[in-house]
Amino acid sequence: MKISIDIDILLKYDRPGPRYTSYPTAPVWNEDFGPKKFKTKIIETNSGRELPPLSLYFHIPFCYSLCFYCGCNSIITKKRGHAREYISYLKREVENISSHINRERRVVQLHWGGGSPDFLTPSEMEILYGHITDNFTIDSEAETGVELDPRETTFEHLKALKGLGFNRISMGIQDFDPVVQKAVNRIQSEESTRRMVEWCRGLGFNSVNVDLIYGLPYQSAKSFKKTVDKIIAINPERIAVFNYAHVPWMKRHQKMIKEESLPRGREKLEILKMVIEGFTGAGYIYIGMDHFAKPGDELCIAQREKTLYRNFQGYTTKAGCDLYGFGVTSISMVGNCYAQNQKTLYDYYAAIDAGIMATHRGYELNPDDLLRRHIITRFMCDFELGKKDVEAKYGINFDDYFSEELKRLEPFRDDGMLVLHTDRIEITDSGRILVRNIAMAFDAYLNIPGKEMKFSRTI
Ligand code: SF4
Repeated sequence: MKISIDIDILLKYDRPGPRYTSYPTAPVWNEDFGPKKFKTKIIETNSGRELPPLSLYFHIPFCYSLCFYCGCNSIITKKRGHAREYISYLKREVENISSHINRERRVVQLHWGGGSPDFLTPSEMEILYGHITDNFTIDSEAETGVELDPRETTFEHLKALKGLGFNRISMGIQDFDPVVQKAVNRIQSEESTRRMVEWCRGLGFNSVNVDLIYGLPYQSAKSFKKTVDKIIAINPERIAVFNYAHVPWMKRHQKMIKEESLPRGREKLEILKMVIEGFTGAGYIYIGMDHFAKPGDELCIAQREKTLYRNFQGYTTKAGCDLYGFGVTSISMVGNCYAQNQKTLYDYYAAIDAGIMATHRGYELNPDDLLRRHIITRFMCDFELGKKDVEAKYGINFDDYFSEELKRLEPFRDDGMLVLHTDRIEITDSGRILVRNIAMAFDAYLNIPGKEMKFSRTI
């Protein structure tokens, strides 16, 4: 895939916008949707219909030190006792939720994220996993992944995870440049990363994913190319290169990063251009939204077959699941609703102690939301949208229903970023970089007077 990147055109579209891990996006959700409503929805969605498979997410929020760029929901501590207490609450949440879930439903995707799941000891990992399998039915072909920090992960951690049946390892790297590492307070030697990849290979993990970030302080296309070349040599199956979201009004610790050290505008796009050319030149497929995978990877196959899906964990081949999130801040996507857990450990523990769902806020999608979510998801996954499919599924006339939205797409068409066919909308290879901006044309909640939402920049 040859992607031609015209920086002057991209600069026109450099503006804040959502990442669309959900639609409507989280700022639209509200606290009217609380524990009772979520419980009702769980019960409703476990009876009287063809029950979809399950995807489970477990959030382990703890990390030993703070990376200044961090956009995750993390708790920095060196107190190991937190893990034991937290697991005891996770176990109770698992029991509470699973008691309403039909046991015939199979878990086809299981993911542990954070924070850093390696904050747990190998034996704590075994205890948590054992409790999950006691309460849910895990499919033998399930995709089971875990996010790990090479600075803290030991061979024993990996051995325990392999023994439990995990098959995907995702590791944070971000940038090998010592100047960048110092500026973001994440000192991680190349040696520790390489050693961890070797351990994974030796233990037979056949899917290794690495995470990088572009747009970090003091990065340039020239400096970051060294990291890109080293990653190509490490040869992971999947690579995610996230756009650094500088949102100090939401993540106060990001104030530790000096604004003037951040690459902006043309400089930042030069980095993105180098990243895309570097990885696609090395044979990786640009899936879109910062993700690359080897051509034989199931993400690439699913994208070719138009069965790719996107949820809170990123791209996945497991479409159509009900997703249950466990732990502080975790998000569930069940039936036609979203529910997010309490945001502090105190509130999360209090809800579990009270024997209720730990829901802090949520949202029930209306028919228009469901239609727009479908469109945005298909753009993110297929980079193409068949109007007839949408009309048949939702009973609308596409061109009438979306006449305003189609007008908003005209500048993208004029810049060669998409083609407006009579029966479909096709995003060009160059337009893939702008998929967030293109999706924004269909977002009914942007630009509502008096409801201003702040997002990170799209590119
Ligand atoms: S390891 Fe990850 S979750 Fe923890 S502070 Fe760093 S970026 Fe945040």
